[in-house]
Amino acid sequence: MANHFSQLAKKSRTNGNAEKIAKEQPGKPSLDIYKLGDDVLRQNSKRITKVDESIRKLAREMLQSMYAAKGIGLAAPQIGINKELLVIDVNFEDSAAEPLILINPEITDFGTTLNSYEEGCLSIPGVYLNVVMARCIQHEMDHLNGILFVDRVTSKDDLNKELIKEGFNEKDVISIN
Ligand code: ZN
Repeated sequence: MANHFSQLAKKSRTNGNAEKIAKEQPGKPSLDIYKLGDDVLRQNSKRITKVDESIRKLAREMLQSMYAAKGIGLAAPQIGINKELLVIDVNFEDSAAEPLILINPEITDFGTTLNSYEEGCLSIPGVYLNVVMARCIQHEMDHLNGILFVDRVTSKDDLNKELIKEGFNEKDVISIN
């Protein structure tokens, strides 16, 4: 998975010459992050046909907002834009490691191992639950298809407890199990 991931990243990376976004971002995300219950999170995203300055600017703003929100991934739908654009940085503590900017990503090989692990989302703050899926990249790709990680949670009791605790509505979950 790691190998494939970096290949994918290389293929779609667009920020080779772009200015570096500081990973320490004091203050708030510059973009509003939409939350569970907002319709924009449930739309299918459109392919990006041309990578121009507006897309590069959007990617930079998404990185800034992701770092400011202390997230490891952010998909364009989460900031209200239904385009196939993701930013990911699982090495947020390593200031030298480059983030990934993925445009029109496709997963061709997940390998055979699926792990259960605790997942969270900037669009569902405070809610952490176990799901089974390939980490981070799957989560962010799901956003492009209008899927949220809570849709994949199998334990409905845990799910509802967590959602209520954080003020979310269980009716906004579209279970795919
Ligand atoms: Zn998310």
